[in-house]
Amino acid sequence: MKRSRTFLFLLPAVALLHACGQPEKPSRINSETVSPSDSGFYEADEFADIRVLRYQIPGWDQLTLQQKQLCYYLNMAGLAGRDIMWDQNYRYNLRIRRAIEAVLLNYNGERSGTEWEAFETYAKQVFFSNGIHHHYSNDKHEPAFSRTWFEQALAESGVKLAPEAMEAIFNPEVDAKKVSLDASKDLVLASAVNFYGEDVSQGEVEQYYAAKEAIGTDEPLSYGLNSKLVRNASGQLEERTYRVGGLYGPALEESVKWLEKAMGVAENEAQRKALGFLIEYYRTGDLKVWDDFNVAWVKDVESTVDYILGFVEVYNDPMGKRGSYEAIVEVNDPVATKNMEVIMRNAQWFEDNSPLLPQHKKKDVVGITYRFINTVGEAGDASPSTPIGVNLPNANWIRAKHGSKSVSLGNISDAYDKSSGSSTLEVFCHDAKEIELAKAHGALAGKLHTALHEVVGHASGQLEPGVGETDATLKSYASTLEEGRADLVALYFVMDPKLVELGVMPSLEVGMAEYDSYIRNGLLVQLRRIKPGKDIEEAHMRNRMWVSAWAYERGKADSVIVKVVRDGDTYYDIRDYDKLRNIFGELLREVQRIKSQGDYKACQALVETYGVKVDPAIHAEVLRRAEQIRTKPYAGFIQPEMEAVTGADGSITDVKVTYPKDFLGQMLRYAERHSFLPDEN
Ligand code: ZN
Repeated sequence: MKRSRTFLFLLPAVALLHACGQPEKPSRINSETVSPSDSGFYEADEFADIRVLRYQIPGWDQLTLQQKQLCYYLNMAGLAGRDIMWDQNYRYNLRIRRAIEAVLLNYNGERSGTEWEAFETYAKQVFFSNGIHHHYSNDKHEPAFSRTWFEQALAESGVKLAPEAMEAIFNPEVDAKKVSLDASKDLVLASAVNFYGEDVSQGEVEQYYAAKEAIGTDEPLSYGLNSKLVRNASGQLEERTYRVGGLYGPALEESVKWLEKAMGVAENEAQRKALGFLIEYYRTGDLKVWDDFNVAWVKDVESTVDYILGFVEVYNDPMGKRGSYEAIVEVNDPVATKNMEVIMRNAQWFEDNSPLLPQHKKKDVVGITYRFINTVGEAGDASPSTPIGVNLPNANWIRAKHGSKSVSLGNISDAYDKSSGSSTLEVFCHDAKEIELAKAHGALAGKLHTALHEVVGHASGQLEPGVGETDATLKSYASTLEEGRADLVALYFVMDPKLVELGVMPSLEVGMAEYDSYIRNGLLVQLRRIKPGKDIEEAHMRNRMWVSAWAYERGKADSVIVKVVRDGDTYYDIRDYDKLRNIFGELLREVQRIKSQGDYKACQALVETYGVKVDPAIHAEVLRRAEQIRTKPYAGFIQPEMEAVTGADGSITDVKVTYPKDFLGQMLRYAERHSFLPDEN
């Protein structure tokens, strides 16, 4: 993998002259682009524990001009708020970022050697996590360059950094954790995240919201979602609301400007109405309007272009109240969604033909609405690190009364598969045929599994009369049992000729590829993510393990799945796919019985026997083999960039998408074009 050692991009000599003949300073912002057909398109850069990838936007040219404009305006609205996430993450982030940008752009000293390279790595880490704390672990990044070098580089680049921000970079004791969930400490005081005044304590926050939240209503507001809680001059706590004219006003004002343009090219009335509420919410900060927006957004199901905008997920707040700024602009993936719809329309067929006991089958099954989308642009909390599936809104009462939208970010998943798939395959596949099937059908197999799991799986089956909700009967095993049940529905039907007949897959080879991948992952590959000596805890990891391990053992006598040890490496080779399908069906029937009857003992035995304990020898082996893969544990993306092409009268005639070559180049371009907040807010 190449290391992007320099981003210096020299323009051709003729372009260096102004009209007046003065040589222009060559830009240090790399504006080179790449094409999706280039080999190595998906991998852009790697540093520290991070891989930076690219994703492409399939079908962009098939969109109408109006849809492209809508994407462009929404994307600009999203990017306008990029600085907000930086300031939310930590109070000195924006000034530190600007100091880093100044050095990257202006430093004329040696741009190589240990100090520079360490600085460049740090800069990339900070850009990747929208601040000086790691996006996942929440620990502060450790600079490997010296303070002396940095001070001199800043001076030479003509920029000053306040002593407290300098301390934040170099003193590991200062604001060490962005979000602390250590229950022995005051969560608010121990977290560096910028959602609360520096002297505000957890107890005060709890007290402040207790009264508001105690109001009896079945439509509660999301208190605290869009504000910072601070102590005012007279010592009282008060909210500084994110709104035009309030906290983050300049960025939100810019965003509103683009949202108004988006409204002008909305695809239909439902979409226009939702955008109107979002604008009103950004202007007023009124949480009731946020709810109105979400209700309207949930009802907008016909549009090709959709989006997630606003202060959404609350994971960054140790108190789980404040929403991080997020932007995702997306277009419906017509092919994948058509497959989903075909499956949804046939939900009753799947139920009638499932291996469940007759009394556990639903008479009127309604498939769950789920769509595949392609991302066209992301910002804030969703970039560079991005989710691959989103289910919103978060307010439970809106979900219950008005529904929710679930999407899978198809082109992002594709990019992950294409950037890292083959090396994992080479290390863990039993033979060349398995690799070939995975390469030919892996992507479709994954999408069909997701569709069947979400649309048919979770909607399938019914409880016996008098049996309570699974959370109550199966307790801590409820979610792993439910996820395993949905997986088993998917596994059972992904090998069904019905799917070929419905036209959603070309042959049963797709199902075979899915079986290979499921077993390989469940019994081997996923153990990479577990630390030595630890059990499996996460619900999905557990269910992949118990489904695979149970099936392996069940088919042992018939050599359905054979364990092969070659040169000290273990492989699982599926020898009989049809028998394996029957085994999955048998387990599905039993798992549905456990759920339908609320059989806690059987559930506990299944999960504890097959889904928790890791064989230490196999685990050590997987960790050893995984080192050959050398993929960094975290990945994120360079965003495609949009440019409006205008005609003679200034109207937009097309929107072009380019794929930037260089991560730092994009970060510096963003600073130039999409930065609207002062250092301190
Ligand atoms: Zn699920």
